[in-house]
Amino acid sequence: MTAQTELSGVFDRVSHRLNEPLARHTYLKIGGLANVALFPSESDLEFVISELHRISMPWIVLGRGSNVVIDDAGFSGAVIFTDNLSECIEPEEGSGLVRCGAGMGLGRLLSLCAQKGLSGMEGLAGIPGTVGGAVYGNSGSFGCEIKDVVAEVGLVNSSGGTEILQNSKIPFRYRSSGISEGSIIKSVLVRLKPDDQYAVKERINGFVRQKKNTQPINLASAGCVFRNPESASAGRLIDDAGCKGMRVGGIEVSRLHANFFVNTGGGSAADYIGLMDAVKNRVMQHSGMELHPEVRIIKRETGA
Ligand SMILES: Cc1cc2nc3c(=O)[nH]c(=O)nc-3n(C[C@H](O)[C@H](O)[C@H](O)COP(=O)(O)OP(=O)(O)OC[C@H]3O[C@@H](n4cnc5c(N)ncnc54)[C@H](O)[C@@H]3O)c2cc1C
Repeated sequence: MTAQTELSGVFDRVSHRLNEPLARHTYLKIGGLANVALFPSESDLEFVISELHRISMPWIVLGRGSNVVIDDAGFSGAVIFTDNLSECIEPEEGSGLVRCGAGMGLGRLLSLCAQKGLSGMEGLAGIPGTVGGAVYGNSGSFGCEIKDVVAEVGLVNSSGGTEILQNSKIPFRYRSSGISEGSIIKSVLVRLKPDDQYAVKERINGFVRQKKNTQPINLASAGCVFRNPESASAGRLIDDAGCKGMRVGGIEVSRLHANFFVNTGGGSAADYIGLMDAVKNRVMQHSGMELHPEVRIIKRETGA
């Protein structure tokens, strides 16, 4: 029996596509085909994971694909998209608590915060990912990290069981939640503080303006390529090493922010990784500092 026949029970219930080009789902516009793309609803998520587990099919999860570089050869297995996990509820008016599906865009959550006068995550404005992706990588900007507002996270583990993790049980650190790659974040409860609606909106708009002026947010990229070393800025180190404008194939070091590589058209994952190596070497020669990736590189044969 082929893996696809074995998944017929999933295909009967869950929206899916076969041989899906992943370049369509990444900000970088890079990535070959996935054997199967699945778009489960919240109620089907446990079933999907347990079925993939049963037939030992490797899988990965993607939100908006704004922090990933996916192999030109695609992904051998199933890609679970969180697009249909985007419900959002305020469990108790005035409590400052908001529960949202992992696939909800950060931008949509921030608009809701502005509407309701809820403060605490304005610094994340302009980050193009989902709430689930942001929690997975503990996204941060302008001195704000998502870990500061997360109260609890609903997870589906690698065998399809559900768990609720309180913030104190999640080993958050810089750009990492420590949540295992074999789990999917299903929902997130955030705790915010009441504030004036107009003030929240103004702060959000201000941060978006700053981002537009300093990062190539309208070009195809995967966000910051390298993590900031302790007490240094990766962008500054790359800039000081004279790497702005360096290219491999269709990928170029942004001239606006050196820690962003942009796809100028026709770039590949191989070009991106080649440019990472070249920049890393040049920074090492120039400053003796070693850079480590912040972007997630997804190879064809990885997955839970
Ligand atoms: C222009 C631009 C600006 C950016 N600015 C910032 C910034 O200021 N600060 C910052 O921190 N990041 C920034 N990023 C990076 C990126 O937007 C964030 O990391 C974002 O939160 C990723 O969300 P996503 O939904 O796109 O995740 P994806 O790219 O789809 O996935 C990223 C990782 O998270 C995992 N993941 C996604 N969803 C889930 C889930 N539900 N459960 C478990 N794992 C999951 C994936 O498997 C993958 O390993 C920027 C990116 C761009 C393109």
